[in-house]
Amino acid sequence: MNSPVHTESADASAQRFAGFEPDTCFVAHWHRRTRSGYSTHYTKESSRTVNGHRLAFMLLVGSPLGAEMVLHRCGNAACLNLHHLYLGSDGENLRDRLLHKAVYSAPRVPDQDASDLVTRPIPAALSREAPSRGLAFGGCDELKCVHAPWLIATPDGYRQLPGRPLPGDLAGAHRKVFELLIGSLRPLDLVRHSCGDKTCVNPYHLYIAGRQSPDLGNQYDRRKDRPVRGPYKPGAGA
Ligand SMILES: [Zn+2]
Ligand SMILES: [Zn+2]
Repeated sequence: MNSPVHTESADASAQRFAGFEPDTCFVAHWHRRTRSGYSTHYTKESSRTVNGHRLAFMLLVGSPLGAEMVLHRCGNAACLNLHHLYLGSDGENLRDRLLHKAVYSAPRVPDQDASDLVTRPIPAALSREAPSRGLAFGGCDELKCVHAPWLIATPDGYRQLPGRPLPGDLAGAHRKVFELLIGSLRPLDLVRHSCGDKTCVNPYHLYIAGRQSPDLGNQYDRRKDRPVRGPYKPGAGA
């Protein structure tokens, strides 16, 4: 489905994606960070912690292969702007470091307010290295759904990163996109698609539709640590 039609409940939701600008960084202030400035995110499906910029890339651009690294053109570890992220190797990483060192000045944040959830520092320089495999962010706008065919299907029809299959409300790519780019989520918050397409990962199409009832929450708590198993196969052991 590729309908740009948004529902009324979508319009009633307060938290929406603020959008990327090509020349300014996108720094989200609700994330936990490492000392180097990277945000960190636990992924239940692989039981691993992943840096925010790498996770954003894996959800909206593609999967790094082998030794490929997700690098910042802007040199700002906290930045999640997909226009500033690209796939490279040690060589590109080193040249970027030299570039950013040469032009270093404290990033300028225009019109910042203490209550801003997202700030947009202006990088001193943006690297122009070519991305590995030509893999680049295709951009996103409110009019078109964004699909990520490198992700796998959850048992209930959403998309998730490769790993053990879990329901969309536990491991859904749409929830990760929301938490990375729109705002923090409480475990019982229901993230819905204004486009009606559960496989879409366009941050413009995501909103909080409400909360699961506490009764359902208990089920959620019991279920969250249990992997979803495939259909019963006779003879597969006790
Ligand atoms: Zn940036
Ligand atoms: Zn959509």
